[in-house]
Amino acid sequence: MPHAMMQMPLLISGLIAHAARFHGDTEIVSVETDGQITRSNWSTVERNARRLANVLLKLGLVPGDRCGTIAWNNLRHLELYFGVPGAGMICHTINPRLSPRTLEFVLRDAADRILFVDRTFLSLAADVLPKLEDLQHVVLMGPRDDEAAAQIKGLLFYDELLETGSAAFPWPDLDETAMSSLCYTSGTTGHPKGVAYTHRSTLLHTLVVGGTDLMAVSARDTVLPAVPMFHVNAWGVPYIAARQGARLVLPGPFLDGDSLARLIEAEGVTLSLGVPTIWMGLLAALRNSRTDVSKMKRAIVGGSALPPTMLAAFRDEFGIELIHAWGMTETSPVGTLNQLKSKHLTLGTARQAELRLGQGRPPYGVDLRIVGKDGRSLPHDGVTDGKLQIRGHWIVQSYFGAEEDALTPDGWFDTGDIATLDADGFMVIRDRAKDLTKSGGEWISSVELENIALAHPDVANAAAIGAKHPKWDERPVIVAVPATGRIINENNLLAWFDGKIPHWQKPDAIVVVDALPLGATGKVLKNQLRDCYANILLQDQRAK
Ligand code: AMP
Repeated sequence: MPHAMMQMPLLISGLIAHAARFHGDTEIVSVETDGQITRSNWSTVERNARRLANVLLKLGLVPGDRCGTIAWNNLRHLELYFGVPGAGMICHTINPRLSPRTLEFVLRDAADRILFVDRTFLSLAADVLPKLEDLQHVVLMGPRDDEAAAQIKGLLFYDELLETGSAAFPWPDLDETAMSSLCYTSGTTGHPKGVAYTHRSTLLHTLVVGGTDLMAVSARDTVLPAVPMFHVNAWGVPYIAARQGARLVLPGPFLDGDSLARLIEAEGVTLSLGVPTIWMGLLAALRNSRTDVSKMKRAIVGGSALPPTMLAAFRDEFGIELIHAWGMTETSPVGTLNQLKSKHLTLGTARQAELRLGQGRPPYGVDLRIVGKDGRSLPHDGVTDGKLQIRGHWIVQSYFGAEEDALTPDGWFDTGDIATLDADGFMVIRDRAKDLTKSGGEWISSVELENIALAHPDVANAAAIGAKHPKWDERPVIVAVPATGRIINENNLLAWFDGKIPHWQKPDAIVVVDALPLGATGKVLKNQLRDCYANILLQDQRAK
């Protein structure tokens, strides 16, 4: 008996084939490592991805082999995003700012057989290379470069390799549950863990997250992913853009506010995505320049909490709507995104803004719950907070190479976040479980303290950490960066908290620093701050 409906596997090659066939002339703009702009289109990206797939097989790689990339957001990286999984291999995107030890760990753990690197990261690759037995080829993502060739014996060149691949290479039929890409968690505690996405999980994430009420990407959009392509597949944007036939602008290494503002204006970007640190930089640049970013109507903010002042600043000063989203490496990454329902439209601007500051609601395809310490579900009343757990089509089941699954006995993934959920599914992250300050048996949310500090005109950036305290176990301390041309007065900033939170939650001290330590994905490295300032209340006898 034939099937009633066609059985076609959900494959990444299908996305690029669609983009090439029906949006072939839609442009892909790429800022290269040297600042040059290259222009391509979906048709050429597919042709090159086919060539690349053919080259990988000719080099002796077989389906399931891992191919590492250490690269910026650029055209060749985009071709790798499609060519590697299209051929049946696994695209392992590596964060270039890992310490040498961690870099070696992830390359070993993934057992990458080939490594593609941008010119910027060549010496990084040269240093780690001798320690890796599985690695057989290193490819510089560019044309032949004799100076580079002198650094790594047997170095291959991407552009030369592509010449040897056939553009007529047919995309192979693969099992949709085969692994397609691999990302490692940031590993702030212990070693990073690999999360391998499958063709099927990627396709379902792409189909849902690109749609209305989520990223809502269309064929009329010009999308600039300011989130790195090594951070959870750039939140799925390259795949979503191919599915919709959107125009893509890849910013290369230039993610500072001024460069982004210029690129947004020059290329008429309509939608961009990134972490709050990126938007802080852009906001400062826009305020100091006359750049016209009026075509950009919305930007998606995730990776860490959206500060309330930022929402209003972008809306009121530049007409850009910030849309808050939440996710993690283990969730492909989108778990929730904040789009209002029709019943919210009659609410006043202030209440709407308050709702928008939450992390949003889950789309079809994922389910959320919150549980107490005993593992029992807690009410979805928007007030009770508990451990946030998730399950769904694009949520991790087991870490790469692990024998056991990573789920609760009843099949949920515990995110490590503490959150509330309301009856409509709107979720608010109250904290990362390990970032809560445990004061005298009560919990104090770092997010709330940071939001208050950030609203002070003298403060450009702030992080709240728990510092050791002889009586209360821990008390909150704010590490703050002054805004340009301003000076932070400790007493003045402490007084700013009065009346905004219960008295016992007020920070005990303010530490003023020039900059906060940021990880490669733009998140504040709280563990480094804790290492520096955990004893500050003991040392300076401020403890009461
Ligand atoms: P990563 O896997 O490196 O992307 O980190 C995932 C973690 O980042 C989550 O578990 C959250 O703690 C945090 N995170 C991501 N998005 C948000 C957000 N919108 N608000 C607050 N925290 C977030």
